[in-house]
Amino acid sequence: MRGSVARAWIVLAALLALACGVCGAGPRPAKPNIVILVADDQGFADVGFHGCKDIPTPNLDALAASGVRCTNGYVSGPYCSPTRAGLLTGRYQQRFGHEFNPGGGRMNDIAGLPVDQVTLADRLKGAGYATGLVGKWHLGAHPKFHPNRRGFDEFFGFLGGANAYVVPPQGTSVPNIQRNGEPVQEKEYLTDALAREALSFIDRHRGGPFFLYLAFNAVHTPMHATDERLKRFEGIAEPRRRTYAAMLAAMDEAVGKVRERLRTAGLEENTLVFYFSDNGGPTMMGTTVNGSRNAPLRGSKRQTLEGGIRVPFVFSWKGRLPAGKVYEQPVIQLDVHSTALAAAGVEPKPEWKLDGVDLLPYLQGRKSEPPHERLYWRFGEQMALRQGDWKLVKYDATPMKLYNLARDIGESQDLSEKEPERFREMEAAWQKWNAELMKPLWGGRGARDAE
Ligand code: CA
Repeated sequence: MRGSVARAWIVLAALLALACGVCGAGPRPAKPNIVILVADDQGFADVGFHGCKDIPTPNLDALAASGVRCTNGYVSGPYCSPTRAGLLTGRYQQRFGHEFNPGGGRMNDIAGLPVDQVTLADRLKGAGYATGLVGKWHLGAHPKFHPNRRGFDEFFGFLGGANAYVVPPQGTSVPNIQRNGEPVQEKEYLTDALAREALSFIDRHRGGPFFLYLAFNAVHTPMHATDERLKRFEGIAEPRRRTYAAMLAAMDEAVGKVRERLRTAGLEENTLVFYFSDNGGPTMMGTTVNGSRNAPLRGSKRQTLEGGIRVPFVFSWKGRLPAGKVYEQPVIQLDVHSTALAAAGVEPKPEWKLDGVDLLPYLQGRKSEPPHERLYWRFGEQMALRQGDWKLVKYDATPMKLYNLARDIGESQDLSEKEPERFREMEAAWQKWNAELMKPLWGGRGARDAE
């Protein structure tokens, strides 16, 4: 009996494989290329596919139209480095003490992605991938944290949290740029240089499989843009918004170049592309306010309000993921790690303790339940918990608030007194998760923190 059931399954599996071939999807590529595009400090509202009107983002819109955009796409940190630590490890970064941005430069051998944490680059390299980081690292500047020691065969970019885009008036090159530890005399506007290097990486590894992590510093401060692009946005009166528009246009063009190169190289159907912003737009706090907008969300970068943690979020894989789909269940950048591993055929081990979920079956419509029962945040004294439509959040010195995001996306009506049981149950769930976390390995320094 058991044998016949097994045979029936084999027949069914064979039929399904055949059906997939007939419907044009072809055999599943053994190891698709993985491209992760990360924007820096881009606001939730600042993409055409979220309704942005004053800054066209045709290439990001085309990317979204080619795949699945997630309206409830989150990042696990409300600012740069923690989100990147979560992405590369696939784990809530507070589990290993990476709660805040690292500072201290090359001499600080504590503040950086702990070396006992295995990265996505390590894992994909182990699966035969060529691995490259182009852009911003921000996971520690001490040599022991260098990306070339964290699974990346190739690194072009800078180690810190922010960088100039242009050659300074008295200088000869864009500061701090290196290739695999060697200083580079970069003359080009940095976002354009990152695009150039990304294309070069694709060209050199087009035989695949490759993993390209293209971590733009756009649209993070300093506010540097090219004259040509600034001219395009003369219609924007507010100077900061205008410069932001020119910086965002450069990033959008870079995304377009990467997609065009994948297409002309015949790699579209063999490349899974992810795009998200590392945190919400810094609209009102700290030193990095850049003219971004998060409407209709409330709050800013550095906050666990939606404006700090809900971001533009897209998955695209031609022929494997539906085109033009809108996915509304909450997902998080930790899932990018798990989804990339699944696409690459890397089976996660239980001891990796990943918090992310492989989203392919959800985005393909093969699974309909929510991928996560709950999503969690801790950022110093701030916290948040997302559970279904509900959100429990503490974002300042006042007590936790309870919001229903389905009815109140702007987090304006605290329902904690109306829903005391739900409040208690959610708080208990968050406390249980919080008890699993480490104390931060280094401190946050509030608004003066190098962002
Ligand atoms: Ca950021």
